[in-house]
Amino acid sequence: MSRTRGQQPLQDQHHVDPALRTRIRRKLLRWYDRHRRDLPWRRRSGDPYAQWVAEIMLQQTRVETVIAYYNRFLRRFPDITALAVADHEDAVKRWEGLGYYRRILHLHRAAKLIHERGGEVPTSAAELQRLPGVGVYTAAAIASIAFGEKAAAVDGNVARVLARLFGVRCDVLSTPGKRQMHDLATQLLAPGRPGDFNQAWMDLGSAVCTPRSPHCPRCPLKADCVATRTGCAASLPHRGVSRNNRRPQVDIVVGVFVHKHKVLMRRRPTGGLWSGLWEFPNVERNDGDAPSRLVRRLASDNNLRITAGLRRTATVGHELSHRSLTFHVYLVDVDRETEDSPRNASTRWVAGRGFRRLSISTAHRKILAASPLTPLRA
Ligand code: SF4
Repeated sequence: MSRTRGQQPLQDQHHVDPALRTRIRRKLLRWYDRHRRDLPWRRRSGDPYAQWVAEIMLQQTRVETVIAYYNRFLRRFPDITALAVADHEDAVKRWEGLGYYRRILHLHRAAKLIHERGGEVPTSAAELQRLPGVGVYTAAAIASIAFGEKAAAVDGNVARVLARLFGVRCDVLSTPGKRQMHDLATQLLAPGRPGDFNQAWMDLGSAVCTPRSPHCPRCPLKADCVATRTGCAASLPHRGVSRNNRRPQVDIVVGVFVHKHKVLMRRRPTGGLWSGLWEFPNVERNDGDAPSRLVRRLASDNNLRITAGLRRTATVGHELSHRSLTFHVYLVDVDRETEDSPRNASTRWVAGRGFRRLSISTAHRKILAASPLTPLRA
């Protein structure tokens, strides 16, 4: 069957006509050269460390949010050695507010590994993928931008553009769907400018081929786009069952223990969720657990004596990628059983400046914002 320009069906088909490939590359790169976003990491495109930090921050966080964090982080840790020799608490403090703290745990660990091996960032996507926290997409982005490797970087934004451009109707989150998107992106990749080409997809997905209302009239690829021609842009890509629908709900009871205008904070263990961050003491609530009983248990675990009634002050919701959390917050005046209770290196009584110095997760900042704790904001 012969194909004419603008009639590129790509239901389950993987081969892209060479003429179409050339046309898409030319149009997309020309558009990128005119409309590319001026981002701080793009001013250091040959610096793999700068690309790496940006790509890790951009996982699950919007570009607009990342820019300020990125600039601060690079000022404090301008190169891989500076990050590798920093203590973890310092690194976490510069990440505070960005969320998904496993990212900084991995980034810091990987920086130490590279430093121990001589300080050279691996130069290929395959080697980069062996570092903690660096997946297929991130490795391809770093290798193509910093080292010019012909590696296609396909995230959700790029998959969306490709699915629309070629009218792909399979679930792009399924394994075959991901394979198909990656195969398409690899065929299209501009061999002379792989890093720019990957970034051009990202910019197009962010500014033109947006999730809800794609701006097709100003898209450089509209003449070749199956979705715009068939009027199905808004219904693509197919994503199967939304992960949000499967998120389990978790109830957590929080004790904000106050003693002489200070509150008790505890530090989470290194590794796992919110690694090394400080938080208000809390405990997961199972069906049938009375919240007040859990608060009393938290007090007793910390050698504290409750001196007044429990005050329920707030209910705070927080979404994680895999769970939906609801914090039930209780403000509790306490006395210590002994002068130094609780006797534990991972707990601390703080107020004012002492509190501000701690690295605290976004979830527990929300709890603070919802609680009447004036001394901590002083
Ligand atoms: Fe997306 Fe529309 Fe461009 Fe197609 S024409 S790639 S749907 S913005």
